[in-house]
Amino acid sequence: EPEYDNLLEMFAASVARAPDQDAIRYFDGRISVARLDTASDALAVALRAHGFAPGDRLVLFSQNDPAFVVGMLAAWKAGGIAVSANPMYKDRELGHLLRDSGASAVLCLDELYPVVSRVAADGVTVITFSGLDWQTRNDARVFPSPHRLRVPEALDLLELLAEYDGRRPPPVSAAPGDPAFLVYTSGTTGDPKGAVLTHRNFVFNARSYREWMQLGPADTILGLAPLFHITGLVGHGVLALLLPAPLVLAHRFEPSVMVDAVREHRPVFTVGAITAYAAMAGVPGAGPEDFRSLTKIWSGGAPIAPAVGEQLGEKLGGYIHNAYGLTETSSITHLVPPGRRAPVDPASGALSIGVPIASVHSRIVDEDGVELPPGEVGEVLISGPQVAAGYWRRPDASEAAFPGGELHTGDVGFRDAEGWFYLVDRKKDMIIASGYKVWPREVEDVLYSHPAVREAAVVGVPDAYRGETVHAFVSLQPGAVVTADELIAFCRDRMAAYKYPRAVFFVDELPKTASGKILRRELRKG
Ligand code: ATP
Repeated sequence: EPEYDNLLEMFAASVARAPDQDAIRYFDGRISVARLDTASDALAVALRAHGFAPGDRLVLFSQNDPAFVVGMLAAWKAGGIAVSANPMYKDRELGHLLRDSGASAVLCLDELYPVVSRVAADGVTVITFSGLDWQTRNDARVFPSPHRLRVPEALDLLELLAEYDGRRPPPVSAAPGDPAFLVYTSGTTGDPKGAVLTHRNFVFNARSYREWMQLGPADTILGLAPLFHITGLVGHGVLALLLPAPLVLAHRFEPSVMVDAVREHRPVFTVGAITAYAAMAGVPGAGPEDFRSLTKIWSGGAPIAPAVGEQLGEKLGGYIHNAYGLTETSSITHLVPPGRRAPVDPASGALSIGVPIASVHSRIVDEDGVELPPGEVGEVLISGPQVAAGYWRRPDASEAAFPGGELHTGDVGFRDAEGWFYLVDRKKDMIIASGYKVWPREVEDVLYSHPAVREAAVVGVPDAYRGETVHAFVSLQPGAVVTADELIAFCRDRMAAYKYPRAVFFVDELPKTASGKILRRELRKG
């Protein structure tokens, strides 16, 4: 196989090899590799006709819909950069992403158009599509209303495809180090920033999945993780384009719909959050025989409690391999190889995150940056061809997180004498609720914007189902009156559903260090 300079060359090779192969299965709709190629040509041509220039950013604001994959290919074919946005985003969050990325176009699900219309600047090209566009069977559990919404203010993706005259978009060139995707993450501190993921990052990591998880074109992929997250983006979307293998999409994660998709399409491989496996195993009537086809499964993005992993593995009739990575490393850097079982560290009870994949250099260092020997606990650093080129237009934050090109992950762990890695803590304040990352600072900023709030601190507390759940501690302005429910509702209106605090506790004073820094650790203890 040649070295591909960019994702377009990688996909062109798949089109040449297997044009009639299913690229996407979506309910009972099927989209071949060749059809994906022409659909993305059509969208690229339309984007260029509406002023989208090489280097421009196209935001994809969608659930797991075939249009997401069409959109990312079209962005590259138009010489641009794709940017993913979480479909749960409220106005505040999408507005920040559009401004920060300087997007000139948005491809969005019709039902999300109202959010886009409120926050997009004049002149941004908007193209809408419906979750019903690619399927013939309506699944009422996913689409309660079987109607396409008409958005007269926007271009319509299906109309663009229907009117397409077959002209190819003008050729573009992309060097391996050119940006292909921005994925927003808060990184170790502060505002959400766009991790700049290059063509080389994605080609390299899709190949890592293929080689390390031993996958081929016969291995149908179950789209368990959201495509807008790095895990779904690379571990489903880009991987499917490389193999090419059919990618089963189910719009959004609804456990019973996912189980039906497994029964119908017999996928072999998936990667997702441990809570997604728990939810599928808990679907009434679902048993190991339903999941028999899924022989290659990985869990990533959140810790797995060893006992929970074993139990779920039995229910799903297989072994759930652990995998570790970050947005800033285009997904996986460490994994438990197929056929191996992750050891458990007797002292901390942590399940190993696996071993570094080829070309990843992963070291453990102390506070002074001195490399530590096996068994000693410090921060995990990562360098290699899948490490992002930095944060979009943030030289200072990039230098802080990637000094000398080596990523400081904010994860604390060690490696053992055999080379297995373990995580035991986090330096960063991130909370992982149902596999979703919540950054306390962002939730606190919203709480501070409420007139009654004097001080706020947000922490993650252990939760049997979600892994962690978000709690807030608040002190009030003198004389102010507000209830916990009011503050929770205030947050719910301003952020994606997984972020808002599930409980608010009032305190007179928040615990602080001598220098005035809030002691989250104290609050976590309750
Ligand atoms: P996604 O958000 O799509 O799940 P991700 O978790 O790989 O992707 P980020 O949102 O950037 O990417 O979060 C990375 C962080 O998640 C890591 O720094 C680490 O704290 C945590 N993490 C990822 N994988 C694991 C794992 N297997 N075990 C424990 N923690 C993990």
